[in-house]
Amino acid sequence: MTTPPMQMSEARRFQQLRGHLSYLKLNDAAEALNRVLDQARHERMSITAALERLLEVEVEATESRRRAARERFACLPEPWMLSDFDFAAQPGVDEKLIRDLATLRFLDDASNVLFVGPPGVGKTMLSVALGRAAVDAGHRVYFTTAVELANKCRKAAIEGRWKTCMRFFAGPKLLIVDELGYLPLPEDGASALFQVINQRYLKSSTILTTNVGIADWAGAFGDATVAAAMLDRLLHRAAVVGIDGPSYRLRGHQTQADNLRKGVNARVS
Ligand code: ADP
Ligand code: MG
Repeated sequence: MTTPPMQMSEARRFQQLRGHLSYLKLNDAAEALNRVLDQARHERMSITAALERLLEVEVEATESRRRAARERFACLPEPWMLSDFDFAAQPGVDEKLIRDLATLRFLDDASNVLFVGPPGVGKTMLSVALGRAAVDAGHRVYFTTAVELANKCRKAAIEGRWKTCMRFFAGPKLLIVDELGYLPLPEDGASALFQVINQRYLKSSTILTTNVGIADWAGAFGDATVAAAMLDRLLHRAAVVGIDGPSYRLRGHQTQADNLRKGVNARVS
């Protein structure tokens, strides 16, 4: 005969409750059960308060696991945040626009962002900073370079995984494609990139960084028609941020070069 629930011993009930939590895969709550029940007795908490505290443990643990998974998936190359960006060093950048982008409203209407400018001016930094803000806000983000994307697509086509590959690039709420134009794309690369952009068109946002001015895209990507179609999709709803100030990366080198020159001049004179 089974023991009626009312007479079930406290210890057995505790074991059963722990078992239920584990069965439901609420492992962090299961682990915290003893501690939370002790607290509840000590602080004479209501049942509602005790349950709330127990489930809060599980919710926090789940959120931190999900966050870590989003971080890993995003492949952001640096820990850069918007607060690291020195706007004074790049007065050409519209700070108001960047701060507006950082609110992530552009994700709601699937707008794109294009950072256009020469090397070293902070294009990757700003796109990573926006990517980080999106990860923090709970969005799925994926960072890649144009060449890496083209290579992945090419490999997928050869291995008969084209559809899976396209689905992969359609998935993230925010896709960041860095360094378009720095290196020539592999064969069919421009067309693969176009297909990725096209299937995300009006559905989810893409950030693209490039050193090639928009007017020169047709020449730079081999196929003028593909370039025009890609721009058409990208620019339909987009913020274009042209950065034409000095290279931040070269500032240090510039100072070194200046000092060197001064030193040389001092010696000469
Ligand atoms: P780009 O992608 O335009 O070539 P990066 O974003 O890689 O340039 O920036 C080059 C380096 O200079 C990075 O280390 C970046 O952190 C730094 N940097 C560029 N612009 C700024 C800025 N305005 N404030 C602070 N650091 C900057
Ligand atoms: Mg860069």
